[in-house]
Amino acid sequence: MLLLSGKEKPEELTEEDIEDAINFASRLYARKEWSSGYIHAMMLPNSGILMANPSMAKKRTSEAIKKNLIGLLSEKEDPCAPICEICGRRHARTKPVYRSDFPLIGTGGVPNYFPSGKDGANICSHCLFLAQMMPLVAYRLSRVLIIHAHPYELMLEFHKEAIDDIKKSELASTARDFKRPENFLFEKLIEIGTNLELGKLQNASIALYYFVNNNQGQEMEVIYIPNPVLRFVAFAARMDRAGWRNIVSMGWRRRPSEEEFEDFKKRYPNNVYSKLLSGESILPYFLDFQNRKVNASWRLLSFYCSEVLGLDKEALEFIKGVADRIVETVEKLPDNKLSRRVRELEKAEKLYQFEGFFIRVEKDRQELGIPGALMSFDDFARILTGYGEDLNVSWKTVKSLLLFRIYEKLHDRLMKASAEEVEAEEDEEEFEEGDEE
Ligand SMILES: [Zn+2]
Repeated sequence: MLLLSGKEKPEELTEEDIEDAINFASRLYARKEWSSGYIHAMMLPNSGILMANPSMAKKRTSEAIKKNLIGLLSEKEDPCAPICEICGRRHARTKPVYRSDFPLIGTGGVPNYFPSGKDGANICSHCLFLAQMMPLVAYRLSRVLIIHAHPYELMLEFHKEAIDDIKKSELASTARDFKRPENFLFEKLIEIGTNLELGKLQNASIALYYFVNNNQGQEMEVIYIPNPVLRFVAFAARMDRAGWRNIVSMGWRRRPSEEEFEDFKKRYPNNVYSKLLSGESILPYFLDFQNRKVNASWRLLSFYCSEVLGLDKEALEFIKGVADRIVETVEKLPDNKLSRRVRELEKAEKLYQFEGFFIRVEKDRQELGIPGALMSFDDFARILTGYGEDLNVSWKTVKSLLLFRIYEKLHDRLMKASAEEVEAEEDEEEFEEGDEE
């Protein structure tokens, strides 16, 4: 209603705005593409209110649908009926509402969702009226996508495109042909973030409802976007557009070419997205281990660490300081030894291997005559155990951060050394034995 009237607050809506919305909707709903192709097929099977029931095809006109919608608004309340389960303000309709009028709820005869543990739901005629507007704002992928957001202003941002598409084509929006709801969400979130002040999404929440409701079945997937992830993604591209693109590119099984990127973005599941949604770390995606280089700027990395991983600025600066002292040391080693030393860190899968790396760098420092120890006992203890409850997660986070800094500073030399290493592979084992202790 707000999107159609161009108004910002619900209290600004007038009766004319409601009538305009009814006219807009009923004109579209009377058309076959909407009625049988969309409403009946995907959202409200056999709807009587919207006359999508195939048996009503002959009588279906925009006037008749309009009459039904207005009828809902003027329907008398039954004081004996239960209170509406949605708004809690009015009495529900005398009979429970089923899936042909409200998506996904229904009767015991077919697979269903039972929001109140019984057939149908007690919903008032006004809430039911609003539900009839849903086809206008939903996105039509292979299922129907509704992006539910708090605060409501954010929800308007997410669904404005749907109404704009309808105004252009008179058809339901296909979300720019995105095939996956979360991919579309991430894309839109970045666009919305571009026009927002930083820190604006502090209390925002988003849940995606991706469903189909028809006579063949009722399927629903709910995708919840954690608030820290929401804030990170909204501003990631603004912090470092190229970096964010590199990170996302690493999330597909195969890295797309420049031309393929848009297509991949619309079509294929992405590991970076799914890890963000399931609360797993995406830190390794900031690094390109194969090419020993970083995918993004330290600025974006630090933003991710503070927003999503919950590391504070001070902790990050501390780790960066340690990394810089490691760089100061290993950069003085000859190429092959430098490469080997960094490989030890790359390959550290167990905590004792990680510890061993620092001890060897400290030895390098002494041999090279660099003044000052790599770090104090307290720093060492902090690096190993200081970050997070889960020891296994915490030191691996530190490891990724150290490698990030090392790649950032020493990429060119490491690549040169890696190339030489391939040639000298046979000598390597021998060298390793003599080198270590
Ligand atoms: Zn209600």
